[in-house]
Parts: sequence; C-alpha cells; structure tokens
Amino acid sequence: MKPMRFLPGLVLAAFCVTGIFAQQKSNAKPVKAVRFGKLWDARGKLWTNAIVIIEGDRIRNVAADASAIPAGAEVIDLSKYTGLPGLIDVHTHMTIYTDETPGEPMLKQTANVNPGYVVFVARKGAMRTLEAGVTTVRDLGADQYMDIAMRDLINRGEMIGPRMFVCGYGLYITNTPYKPGINPPAGGIADGVPEVLKAVRQQIAAGADVIKMYASTGTDDDVTGFQTYTFEEMKAAVAMAHQFGKKIAIHSYGPDGARDAVRAGTDSLEHATDMDDATIQEMAKRGTFYVPTIDHNRYYLDNWQKIGYANGFQEKTKAFIERNLETARRAHKAGVKFAMGSDAIYTMFGQNTRARARLVRESWNDAGAGPAHCND
Ligand SMILES: [Zn+2]
Repeated sequence: MKPMRFLPGLVLAAFCVTGIFAQQKSNAKPVKAVRFGKLWDARGKLWTNAIVIIEGDRIRNVAADASAIPAGAEVIDLSKYTGLPGLIDVHTHMTIYTDETPGEPMLKQTANVNPGYVVFVARKGAMRTLEAGVTTVRDLGADQYMDIAMRDLINRGEMIGPRMFVCGYGLYITNTPYKPGINPPAGGIADGVPEVLKAVRQQIAAGADVIKMYASTGTDDDVTGFQTYTFEEMKAAVAMAHQFGKKIAIHSYGPDGARDAVRAGTDSLEHATDMDDATIQEMAKRGTFYVPTIDHNRYYLDNWQKIGYANGFQEKTKAFIERNLETARRAHKAGVKFAMGSDAIYTMFGQNTRARARLVRESWNDAGAGPAHCND
C-alpha cells in the first residue's frame, strides 16, 4: 500500500517540477546585447564601445565590458553606430494619417472618414514614428477622441507605436458661419471664458493628458497668424488645465497670440513666428518651452500637390519658414528652452526628427553654441 501511495505522489511531484521548468522556460525573456561604437545616455555620459543589455522589452543595464553579456544572449553588432535613448516628439497629429493613394489628394482622404478606420490605418504612422527613433509623442489635436483610443491601444500592447500623451480636441474659436437648424459642431469650439473652462473640463473628462489651444489662425497652407483667443480666455484655459495638474500647449503662428500665451502662463508655445524681444525674454524667464515646428512647412512645400493645396502658397510659406528660423535663432540666443516638435501629419510620420536637425543646422550654428536646450 505504501509504495502504491508514494508512487503517485512522486509522479505528481515530478510533473509539478517539470511543469515549473516548462513554465520558467516559456516565461524566460529573451536577452539581447546590442553593441554601439558610441552611446549617449542622456545623463551626461558619452560611452565608447557600449553594450546595452535588453531583457524582453526592457533595458536591463549598460556596460562597457564584454563579460557583462549573459550566456546565451543574442549579440547585435551596431558598433559602427552611435546609440541614444528614444526621442520625444512633442507635436504630432497621429490620427491625421494618410497614404499616397494615386489620384486621391491627402486632404480628401481625411474628410469624413470613420474614426475606427482612421485609428486602424494610423498604426502605420505610429510604426514609422517609432522606427525614426521617437518612443514618445505629445499628440496635439484629434477628432472624436481617436488619439485616446490610439494611446490606450498602444499602452495595452494591442498596437505598436510610441507612448502617447494626448489632448483630445484642441480648443478653437467659432470659425464656421451660422446655419439655422444645424447643430454647432461638437468638439473643441469655445468662445469666452465660461465656454473655454467647460471645453478644458470636457477634454480632461474624456481622458486627455494635456490641453491644446489654438490662439491664432494659421494651419496647413494658411500661414496667417491673426490672434483668435484673448488674453483672458488663454489665462482661464491655463488655470483650469493647471488646476487638474495638466500642462497646456498654445498654438500661435503670429506674435500677438504668442505674447498673450506666454504671459497667460502656457507651458509650451507652438510655431510662434515674429515674436517681439519682450516676449522672448519673458519665455526665457518663465522657462516656457518653444516648439517652432519649422520642418512641417518644409514638408508641405515638398508635398503640396499630393496633399491637394492650391498653387500659390509657396512664396508665403517660404517666407514664413525664414521668419520662423529667425525667431528661433533669437530665442536660442536669449536662452529660451526648446523642444523638438515635428507637427507630423499625413505621410510625414517617420520624418519626425528632421525638425531637430534643421534647428541645429540653421538656427544655432551662428549662435556659436550647441543645442544646449534640446535634451528632450
Ligand atoms: Zn499641430
């Protein structure tokens, strides 16, 4: 009897042990060791011959000695290259994604499309953004909370893309004529302080991480920069965002909206051309981030026919780029903090980091200093 009782116990124990080992084996995360000739760690150190040890999808450590490579690790040799941590693009529109379907201008592709469809195809732009080395984006304006859907899908591992911080609808003033019997469009339209407060609360209730406000005209092929929101409206939006612990990004193509946005306490200022010296000084004093988004206008010039813009905007846009660069030069000299923002839309995903290269090349070269404020 005894052996009879003992044997099944042993067999059971053996199965359990086998089961544990099998489970450990399947749970064991693959280890990779990536060699870089140089590695900038964003903590002030430039490594030579660095080895990055990755377990599963997490970096475990960085070493300079080959003995740190665990037995059985897959070694990937990128020693011809310099490595750096994932970059942050602080101004994208991930849900305004299109392809280059021949004969179908991008502007047409984005009109009246089903949000479910958009979120699904936008995964391609998310992937391209990631492949460009951008592992985090701040997405500044989407319809129907498609940005929130993308953010959550990425966070759950259902979609591959950069970590997203999103704003829902950007706030903007009434810009459509009144039509009797037709409801005003939903979303971010808000006029006057009470409506602004309500619109900010609506975005936060929907799950926004950050607030976006359009304080001037200017977008796509329109490079006008007339101020739209008043100082009081901006101040109300800033206060309400901050009350909920959220940051706010204010868009202004021109100097007037920029001046009031900075004084209202915006955390970042987007685009902002022709700023006066006092505003630039104020940004430096307050630590307001400047996101000049210069490269998106270059993208528009390169692709205007595919997008579907009418001919004739090129001269104005070229002049705007020059003024944008000049403003960035002055801001850099004054010690303003910069952040890299591509304003990527349509097929621009994957070109996210060109904004940074262009700033360094054209705005800072003559300032005699390196990109001191560009550690995003
Ligand atoms: Zn934008």
